[in-house]
Amino acid sequence: MIAQNLIQIKEELPEDVTLVAVSKTKPNAAILEAYNAGQRIFGENKIQEMAAKYDELPKDIQWHMIGHLQSNKVKYMAHFVELIHGVDSLKTLKEINKQAKKHNRVIKCLLQARIAKEETKFGLSFTEIKQIISSEEITELENIKVIGLMGMATFTENQTQLKEEFSSLKNFFDSLQKGSVLSMGMSGDYQLAIENGSTMVRVGSAIFGARNYIV
Ligand SMILES: *Cc1c(COP(=O)(O)O)cnc(C)c1O
Repeated sequence: MIAQNLIQIKEELPEDVTLVAVSKTKPNAAILEAYNAGQRIFGENKIQEMAAKYDELPKDIQWHMIGHLQSNKVKYMAHFVELIHGVDSLKTLKEINKQAKKHNRVIKCLLQARIAKEETKFGLSFTEIKQIISSEEITELENIKVIGLMGMATFTENQTQLKEEFSSLKNFFDSLQKGSVLSMGMSGDYQLAIENGSTMVRVGSAIFGARNYIV
């Protein structure tokens, strides 16, 4: 099923949209099934779980951290992580920079924008994002590169609301004229996200099936 789901989703995606297969909570066997069907980019939301999978799985997998970050755990992924989606402070950027430097790497990051109406979702306001990317301090961080933005829409079926949230982020992204990656869209809303300018979708359950518990 996993290979079939993956192939079907890939066929639907425009060529310039990158698919991140979100494998959080899923075992290595499931990841390998997607890998053997050609998928190389996987997303996880817990640093230690991702590091364990990195150790055990093929080394040409690109690992994306999509979850909320705890600064003290950045060190466990600094040697291999490809892209960090959920950065929501300058402090975290500094920590990523510090850890990346130890490995002589430049780690790509996305700033997470708060677009959902829900209180529970993390992220920065558009004003805060502007402040961070135009700050003096960020120019000194040579071991990180902010290549775009990430957003999570409200968990709702309301298409009008989803469209509003996605397009507001797209407009803001365009206004910055910086960065090339706009990560938005999950299993339930990725088509709509793409229609509204997403360049990277994070799809879990539509590939791997439902997760057993809420994370
Ligand atoms: C779990 C998760 C996803 C994938 O969710 P699905 O609905 O299973 O596609 C995407 N983005 C983030 C940040 C997640 O935590």
